[in-house]
Amino acid sequence: MSHPPILVSACLLGVRCRYDGGTKPVERVIELSKRFTLVPVCPEQLGGLSTPRIAHERKDGRVVSEHGNDATEVFDRGAAEALRIARITGCRRAILKARSPSCGVGTICDGTFSGTLVAGNGVTAELLMAEGLEVQTDESFTLSGGDPP
Ligand code: SF4
Repeated sequence: MSHPPILVSACLLGVRCRYDGGTKPVERVIELSKRFTLVPVCPEQLGGLSTPRIAHERKDGRVVSEHGNDATEVFDRGAAEALRIARITGCRRAILKARSPSCGVGTICDGTFSGTLVAGNGVTAELLMAEGLEVQTDESFTLSGGDPP
């Protein structure tokens, strides 16, 4: 029996798509590729941002750059494209990078670029959850019943 693929933040799989041109590979996530088809996405690249790029954070319902420019539209576009890919590939679950303004789940930076965390979700995580996907972070994900051992 085949299992639905999992949408994954590309940086967790070693793709160099982070704002600083780096990556954040997580072995526990990469290991899932032995049992599942993983679908890597970087919503910020999908939205049209370059790599490397200036850091962004969510603030007062918008997304702003470290220089104060409003990038909400770009982040919304990236979220929509990530959702499109999830739909095309049949992903019903996502494992996303913790605390990112796009991918964070439950906790994100507060918009002051000081490293302060607040309760909240990244733009893409929020959209995927609203569309019914199960969304977890690389730090918290668990496999639910019915998944292969
Ligand atoms: S937008 Fe998501 S996938 Fe892209 S670098 Fe940031 S955390 Fe990783």
